[in-house]
This record gives sequence, C-alpha cells and structure tokens, in this order.
Amino acid sequence: MLTIDEGRFRESFETYSEIGATDAGGLDRLALTDEDKRARDRFVDDLAALGLDVRIDEIGNVFGRREGIDPDAAPVLIGSHLDSQPSGGRFDGQLGVLSALETLRTLEAEGVETKRPIEIVDWTNEEGSRFQHAMLGSAVFTGETDLETALDLTDDDGVRLGDELERIGYDGDYSVDPFDIHSHVELHIEQGPKLETHGNAVGVVEGVYGIAWLNVTIRGESDHAGPTPMHTRRDAMAAAADAVSAIGALPNRLSADAVSTVGEFDVEPNSINVIPNRATFSVDLRSYDDDVVDRAVALAESEIEAACERHGTTADVEEVWRIPHTEFDSDVCDAVAAAAETAGVDYERLVSGAGHDAKYVSDVAPTAMIFVPSVDGQTHNESEFTAWADCVAGANVYANTVLSLANE
Ligand SMILES: [Zn+2]
Repeated sequence: MLTIDEGRFRESFETYSEIGATDAGGLDRLALTDEDKRARDRFVDDLAALGLDVRIDEIGNVFGRREGIDPDAAPVLIGSHLDSQPSGGRFDGQLGVLSALETLRTLEAEGVETKRPIEIVDWTNEEGSRFQHAMLGSAVFTGETDLETALDLTDDDGVRLGDELERIGYDGDYSVDPFDIHSHVELHIEQGPKLETHGNAVGVVEGVYGIAWLNVTIRGESDHAGPTPMHTRRDAMAAAADAVSAIGALPNRLSADAVSTVGEFDVEPNSINVIPNRATFSVDLRSYDDDVVDRAVALAESEIEAACERHGTTADVEEVWRIPHTEFDSDVCDAVAAAAETAGVDYERLVSGAGHDAKYVSDVAPTAMIFVPSVDGQTHNESEFTAWADCVAGANVYANTVLSLANE
C-alpha cells in the first residue's frame, strides 16, 4: 500500500493556492490569464523536477509522462484542472491535479516502478467561465469539440482563446488527438452534500447525470402600467414568472434525484412603468435517468405553454444542449473501492450531478472518479472547503487506485 507524504502534499497545496489567491481565501485563476500561466509554469517545473517528459498539446493541455516497465503498455491517465471560477475555491480542480502530482511524487520517493506508464494532465479551461465552453481541453482531446472552434472562442472582451494560448506560451504543438489510454481516474470535490451528510471521506463516482438546456423566449405586448386593465394585458414577465415557478416544482413530480434551475433571466423593456413585451430565460434540467430528463423537458414545455395561454402570450422553446447520463467503467470503480478498503477509508458509491473532464475522457477510455466531501456542499465560491484529513484520505485512495491500475 502507498501512503502519500501529508506534509509535502499540504505544502504544494498551499503554494499553488497562492497563485491567484483572493483576499477571502479563494482563487481567481481564470483560464489562460497570467495567474493560470503562473500555475501552469509551476506545474511544468514540478513535472520536470520528477524527470517526466512534459508535452503541451494544441489546445494547451499539459501532459507529463512517467515511464513504466513496459513502455509499450497503454498508460493510466490521471489529473484534473488548474483553472478556477472568478471567485472560486482552492479545491475545485486544483486538489485533483495536486493529488495526481502527489501520487507521482510518492511513487518516485518510494522507488516504485509500475508496469504501465502513468500520464498526468492539467486540462485547459475546465470551468468555461472566461471562455464559455466548460471542460474544453478534454472535449477537444476526445473529439467532442473540434480544435478550430475551440481556438476561435472569445472572452467578454473579444480576446481569442488561441491568441491567449500563444501569449502565455501554451500553444503547444503536440497533437491533441487522444492516445491509447488503459484507464483514467480523476479526483474532485463532490460539490454536493452527500459525503459530508453520510460521514464518508470518499465517494466512488459511478456516473454523471444527463442534462438538457432550454432557452425560452416569451412574447407579449408592451403597454402603460397605469391605464391598461389587467384583463387585457399580454404580460410576458407575468407568464414567465408562472412558468419559472412551475419549472421549479417539476423535480418533485419526477424523481428524487431530478433537479431544475432557471439561472438566466432577461426582460424587455425592463422599465418600471411598462408592461414587459419579452422575457427570456434559461432552463437546466438534470437526472441520472435519461427518461426523467425527457419527461422534464416535455413537462417544462407544457407548463410554459399553459402559462402563456393564461397571459395571452406566446413562447418559443429551443433545446440548446442535451447529453445523456454517463456510466463510468465498473472495473475502474471497483479499483477505487478496493483502494479505499486497502487504505481503510470509509466510502460510498454515488453519481455526480456536475460535469467533469472525466465525463469526456470516459468516451475514449475506461474511467471513474473519486469524490471527497465539500463542507456544506459549497463550491464555485471562496468558502468552498474540504477538511484536510479528507483531502489526505482521498489522495491516499487515489494513489492506491493508480498503483493498482498501472500494474494491471
Ligand atoms: Zn472542477
């Protein structure tokens, strides 16, 4: 059994957390900013110090390879992402990269050779906050998104992603196509409340929810807020409010795991004494059961239609994104569970409501994830926190999972 060096792991966590640190103890390390560059530079130095062969691919993903006894064997891929949300936490992504790094350092320090090579990766732009395409590096790597589309993404200031990669020196020339991978495992914070509630240090993640995104536009008619009687109005905002409230109640009608969110809302003309003629909003519907997502979409559409009928308005519902649920590889899940047993760490099996790079990687290689608890389920903000003992337990489970996969 491998045991990571807690002190070394902590020191590297603290050091990386200084790069883009916010006053409130979080991280502001948006993809391809100067802060992201500094974190990447540090990562590359750390890989080089381990004697790894470092490669940057065309979308800026950073890989490091530790050779195995059999150099021709397909490698085990480990890692996560170093970018953050604008007021993000220190654990999202970073903990996964540093657990992977600590795994390699432990193997090196203990003089452990593995049959298979191990490849560590820092994926580009996982957060999708600055450039709006989440999990971008892994999406391009797996062929989900083409390279040119990715390089041409722009941020709010019109700055092109490809130009930013070049500016920070991470426009690599290594082909972004996927190589043969034996297995992949990513450690990440849960970002939900289950592990903390159940008192488990580790989650064996067996899959990811299916997701549907809708863009809804409701059209009515603008008129004066005073003289226009209520019964003659065609109020787009009133119809939208009814629809949003019905969409919020949908999960209760569907399943225990279903969730629905209206996260964007816009109204025109947005004036205090004018009846709104247009309201637009987004809908995010998720469940591990694809049939539940199907039914949620159908019910959302009928609720929107009914709300429009009550208010004399019309609606346009566009489905902009749909992905089925992902089932991770049962053998890799079992390897994680076995490693938790070996390390004496309490664990449970669960599924993820959030997307992760591992989701795309699972299209090209047997994959699973390890979750560690998020205190109060908080994430994507500066109070995101995981107890250090849980980080260590997770990293130990991670290291032993990687060791067993690399010797398969
Ligand atoms: Zn993340």
